[in-house]
Amino acid sequence: MRTIPHWINGQATEGTSGRHLDVTNPATGEVAGRVNLAAAGEVDAAVGAAAKAYESWGTSSLATRTKVLFAYRELVHRHADEIAELITAEHGKVHSDALGEVARGLEIIELACGIPQLLKGESSTQVSNRIDVESIRQPLGVVAGITPFNFPAMVPLWMFPMAIACGNTFVLKPSEKDPSASLRLVELASEAGLPDGVLNLIGGDKPAVDRLLEHPDVSAVSFVGSTPIAEYVYNTGTAHGKRVQALGGAKNHMLVLPDASLDLAADAAVSAAYGSAGERCMAVSVVVAVDPIGDELVGKIAERAGKLRIGPGDDPSSEMGPLITREHRDKVASYVPQAREQGAEVVVDGTDYTVSGHENGFFTGVSLLDKVTSEMNAYRDEIFGPVLSVVRAKSYDEAIALMNSSPWGNGTAIFTRDGGAARRFQLEVQAGMVGVNVPVPVPVGYHSFGGWKASLFGEHHVYGSDSVHFYTKGKVITTRWLDPSDGGVNLGFPQNT
Ligand code: NAD
Repeated sequence: MRTIPHWINGQATEGTSGRHLDVTNPATGEVAGRVNLAAAGEVDAAVGAAAKAYESWGTSSLATRTKVLFAYRELVHRHADEIAELITAEHGKVHSDALGEVARGLEIIELACGIPQLLKGESSTQVSNRIDVESIRQPLGVVAGITPFNFPAMVPLWMFPMAIACGNTFVLKPSEKDPSASLRLVELASEAGLPDGVLNLIGGDKPAVDRLLEHPDVSAVSFVGSTPIAEYVYNTGTAHGKRVQALGGAKNHMLVLPDASLDLAADAAVSAAYGSAGERCMAVSVVVAVDPIGDELVGKIAERAGKLRIGPGDDPSSEMGPLITREHRDKVASYVPQAREQGAEVVVDGTDYTVSGHENGFFTGVSLLDKVTSEMNAYRDEIFGPVLSVVRAKSYDEAIALMNSSPWGNGTAIFTRDGGAARRFQLEVQAGMVGVNVPVPVPVGYHSFGGWKASLFGEHHVYGSDSVHFYTKGKVITTRWLDPSDGGVNLGFPQNT
């Protein structure tokens, strides 16, 4: 049995806690490895290594850091296939989708390669008589990252390249469900020349997270996961004096106005709802169809949904793989009969689905629910699976009121040919990321990613310029080179003249 170790101070390290968890291949249901689950001692060792490494990394030159980051970019690029295979083996998503995740992660490494430009401070000359002012940003120290199962490569890459580029050292606690891709990314950073201790990884679950949240030497925590845990991490981390950004769950709505191309809207809805088996925080899980196009749009979505090829992620003909665990698959499937009982129309029922030769895999088919209302469980909960709800609305106003009453505000999209309607939507909708005829509006690396309401606790989005602000603290230096004429005691408040 393969064990998945911690990575502390530049070395793979077996756990001492005695706790392990099986890591399963979701396409076969077979145990693929065992991840070590860290206890407080192992977390302390990782934070200790990071604190020691910070003594030199925190003052290392920008040239030193970018040299490593450029080498790292090349290594991750070269190993993209291998990382994608690790993702597929433990997460289940199809290989092309896993490669897409690596590509989006690479965008952030590329952003980090440009850190000298991003970290340039500001200066003002002669703000007063021979006084100059300079604003600089300095690293925080040891930063921790806690990441979810659904993007085991991309989400860690949202965090640590920018954190270490800013001069911090890092402890990553990836999801215990599929940690191997995250571990490989950390190993590659060592191969790229990152000094030991700058980037560490601990396998683990709640005890490891709790220790990171209370550890006095951890300055900041970046978290991505479900809303209840995001809120817990934010409250606990900030109560221990840390800077925290905690990205939570989502229920993303796609609004389709009557003037939209229904074929393009149906393509987009199917791609965004069922890609990665719906296990994306930016998945579209609700389509809001404005009268009178509902019947036609639902027909087009159903037609496309029925043709999707579902199978193991390492089969190039598969478009959608299994769900992460058997329990999650069963929970996802339970929403379909519940919705029927609560009055929805089940247009496509994918719950009774097996893949030949993979009977023990955690597969489900795709489901489409129509005439869903805001009281139904399928509407209220983040299902995080391939179940798409269609809600009918009489007007744009009714649709936007529904969307803005959602407790979440991660991503959203509008499909229309009307520029005025799109502009109104982008200003009125209560969400952090908006797509106009773009169903999954994940921003590029040099813009920031983050939601509103229960999709983000804390004020900083991830990556882009927000990450420079999150991973550094500001300092302002006011300088005057003294001249004899500056003499004299003056108890008044300093004024700029
Ligand atoms: P999760 O909240 O269960 O786990 C996330 C991390 O928190 C993991 O590392 C896990 O070990 C840890 N954790 C879990 N329970 C904990 C507890 N009780 N105490 C302390 N730590 C705990 O999330 P998940 O199931 O791995 O991921 C799916 C969720 O993540 C979905 O809700 C999805 O929307 C969300 N997500 C959000 C974004 C975003 O950008 N907003 C991106 C990806 C995923």
